[in-house]
Amino acid sequence: MIIQRGFKTELELNNRQRTLYRKHAGCARFAYNWGLRRKIETYKLTGKAPNAMELHRELNQLKLGEFSWMYEVSKCAPQESLRNLDKAFEHFYRRLKNGQKPGFPKFKSKKQGLGSFRLTGKIRVFEHFIQLPRLGRIKLKEQGYLPSKSNRVHILSATISEKAGRWFVSLQVREEISVPKNVGPIVGVDLGINRLATISDGSVIENPKALKRYGRKLKRFQRYLARKQKGSRNWEKAKRRLQRLHVQVTNIRRDVLHKTTTMLAKTKSIIVIEELNMSGMLKNHRLARSLADVAFFTFRSQLEYKTKWYGSQLIIAPRFYPSSRCCSKCGNIKEKFSLSTRIFRCEKCGLLIDRGMNASYNLETVTTSSMETENAWSETGGNSLLAVPVDETGTEQRIIQFS
Ligand SMILES: [Zn+2]
Repeated sequence: MIIQRGFKTELELNNRQRTLYRKHAGCARFAYNWGLRRKIETYKLTGKAPNAMELHRELNQLKLGEFSWMYEVSKCAPQESLRNLDKAFEHFYRRLKNGQKPGFPKFKSKKQGLGSFRLTGKIRVFEHFIQLPRLGRIKLKEQGYLPSKSNRVHILSATISEKAGRWFVSLQVREEISVPKNVGPIVGVDLGINRLATISDGSVIENPKALKRYGRKLKRFQRYLARKQKGSRNWEKAKRRLQRLHVQVTNIRRDVLHKTTTMLAKTKSIIVIEELNMSGMLKNHRLARSLADVAFFTFRSQLEYKTKWYGSQLIIAPRFYPSSRCCSKCGNIKEKFSLSTRIFRCEKCGLLIDRGMNASYNLETVTTSSMETENAWSETGGNSLLAVPVDETGTEQRIIQFS
C-alpha cells in the first residue's frame, strides 16, 4: 500500500540560519499577501482572478526590478506560498458551494508569528542533519527519526515553521508500506480526564505527571498575564512565556498520545472507542475537560490512520452508547452517573469496579453485542455500528521535551 505521511521534528539553528529562515518565512508571507491583493484587484477589474502559476510568472518579472531582494531566498518559498493561496481559495469556494460559512482568505500578519514556508526539490536526510535546497545542512534535535530517501520512501516536500521561538521541519513523504496481518485481541478503550486511557485488557495509561504540574503553571501564568496592562512590555513578556508553556504542554500530550495509539494499532486487531460528543465539547468550559476533549479528538484521528498502516480496525461505538453508565457484568443501566465518580457500583448485581475499566469492558463488547443490548440503548437515539473511514494522512510528530 502506498501512503502519504508526515514527520515533524525540531531543528537546531545557528544565528546565521535563523536570519535566513526568517527571511524565507517573511518572503513566503509577503508573496501570499501580494498574491491575495493581486487576485482581489484583478477580479474587480476583469471578473477573473489569476492562478498561482500566472502570479508566479508575474512575480518573476517583478523580481527583476523592485522585488530583487527575493533572490536572497529559495524560489520555492514564494511559489509554494502562492499554491497555498490557491488552496485557500478552493477551500473558500467549496464551502460557499456547500452553503457553509465560507471564510474568505485573509492577509497574513506578522503578529500571528513568523509563519512557515515550504520547500520542494532536492531534500536529503542524514542521521544528524537535513539538507534543504538553498538553506544547506541544518542540525536535527532528534537523530534518526526522519526517514531518508530509499526505494520505498520518496520525499515530497519540507515545511519549515516557527512556534514560540522554536523551529520545526515537517517532511511529507510518499511511502510504500506492507500492511501486516494483525492477530491481536479486540479491546475497548475508555478515555478519561484524570487518566489518559483504560484498556479492556486490564492495562491503564496514566497522563504524564508533567501535565499536572504544567496545568497548575498554566493557570498561574494566565492569571499573571491578565493582571498586566495589555500591550505593555511586561504583558508581551508574560504572553511569550505563556505561549512557550502552551507549546510544551501540547508536545508532552502529543508524545504520549502517539505512543499510545501506535501501541494500540500495532498490537490489537480491533479497537473500540466511544463517539465524541461535539456539542457537549463546546459547552464545557472546564480546562481539564476541554483538554481531555482535544486529546480525544487527536487520539481518534491518529487511530484512524494508524490502524490502516498496521492492519487493525477502529470502531466507534454508537453515539449515546452508555459505556460509562452500563454495568459490564449484568447490563443494568444507571440513570445518572456523575463524571467525577471514579468507582462504578452496580445496584443490581453489586459489582464494584473502576469507572474506566467498566467502560472499556462495555466498549469491547460493542463488536459482539447482541440485539438485546443494542435495543437497550437504541431508544436513546443510538445508530448502527460505524466503522470509521480511514483515508487521512497523518503527520506524526516527535519533539524533544524540555522539563
Ligand atoms: Zn450489575
